[in-house]
Amino acid sequence: MTPAATIPAVTIPAVLARDLRKSFGSVEVLRGISLEVKPGEVFGIIGPSGSGKSTFLRCLNSLETVDGGDLYVNGEFVGHRFRDGRLHELSDRELSAQRMRTGMVFQRFNLFAHMTALENVVRGPVVVKQTPRIEAEAEGRRLLDLVGLKGLYERYPVQLSGGQQQRVAIARAMAMQPDILLFDEPTSALDPELVDEVLETIRQLARDGRTMVVVTHELAFARDVCDRVAFMEQGQLVECAPAAELFANPQMPRTRDFLQRLN
Ligand code: ADP
Ligand code: MG
Repeated sequence: MTPAATIPAVTIPAVLARDLRKSFGSVEVLRGISLEVKPGEVFGIIGPSGSGKSTFLRCLNSLETVDGGDLYVNGEFVGHRFRDGRLHELSDRELSAQRMRTGMVFQRFNLFAHMTALENVVRGPVVVKQTPRIEAEAEGRRLLDLVGLKGLYERYPVQLSGGQQQRVAIARAMAMQPDILLFDEPTSALDPELVDEVLETIRQLARDGRTMVVVTHELAFARDVCDRVAFMEQGQLVECAPAAELFANPQMPRTRDFLQRLN
């Protein structure tokens, strides 16, 4: 055995949250979230509306500041924190660098209406990363192909179905080459017949080994595609387990109640 083989490899977690806290005014919305997402893992979050799922993703994406606890994305600190008893704020440059590490896909696709599908995908790399346009366009076409939109590059959002628009949004998030993709209920604004095509796209990304945190109310999808799933309620992670286990054999009464209510 070589010496290297005897030393366990140190893997930096894709996400590490320790006692994460976030309040809006006097309301504490995240009440001590601790979790670890491994590189390559697909981590699902389920839970009732208002439990803090979106707020948690927004903290990961530096769209919200953090009030307490620690939050790391790929080993880098995210959000604000107290250091030596003083609040340490990130500069705009630090924030923008942080945001690029995660790519967020929202419930509503938020595409730029006056831009083609390709332009929506290309804009971030060209404007923010100063990627040469020709390079960004080649990569943009590749990503649109990957999400099943080959040949629809020049379509405007109004000329695309909701499912196609959401897949453009996924390609757009990937164009910034984030370490982690964050999905916030990516299918809940879609007509039922369009849900599957978007879930299938996410399923494909999971097969490709992408690190993802997926907030979803599609429980069958969470069970089949996620490696682990956490149940969140009232700003706390009630229970977190391998996906099949959480659904087949929830340990906590609150998780059981939630799953039963949906059945
Ligand atoms: P979920 O995504 O699980 O439905 P959210 O994270 O959106 O939950 O919201 C959690 C709680 O935080 C809710 O009570 C919501 O009203 C509140 N909240 C979310 N964003 C804000 C905000 N910007 N200002 C005040 N309250 C907010
Ligand atoms: Mg939400």
